Amino acid sequence: MENRYLEYSELLKKNALKSTPQRVAMLGILEKMGHADVDHIYNEIKKEFVSISLATVYKNINTMLEAGIIQEIKVPQKKSKFEITKHKHSHFICEKCGEVFDIKRPRQLDIELPEGFRAKEASVMIHGVCKRCA
Ligand SMILES: [Zn+2]
Ligand SMILES: [Zn+2]
Repeated sequence: MENRYLEYSELLKKNALKSTPQRVAMLGILEKMGHADVDHIYNEIKKEFVSISLATVYKNINTMLEAGIIQEIKVPQKKSKFEITKHKHSHFICEKCGEVFDIKRPRQLDIELPEGFRAKEASVMIHGVCKRCA
């Protein structure tokens, strides 16, 4: 655990952010949960930092988002989930339990863009039912 904390602390500093115990704890939570929404993070971090406010959690999420340390996964009709930025991957969302899973990116996408449009990036979200819920 100690080692991980050091790693998060380095990660924050590398991205020109102050390494605070709250930020380090949030990264630990994200690492453990994989993908978590703000309520998950808040409920978990409160166990360690009893007096932390939801506003502080939001503020730290935004700061780390802007720095690119974490990423937002937009989930239709639900709260966004967050994860620590890692190699590019796509997501599968289970319509029953709402869990988000990492999946390999499709090797190619066959998309036709209107004349004059230039794509920069595409993200793929697969909707379905996970193994547990099937
Ligand atoms: Zn499921
Ligand atoms: Zn992911």
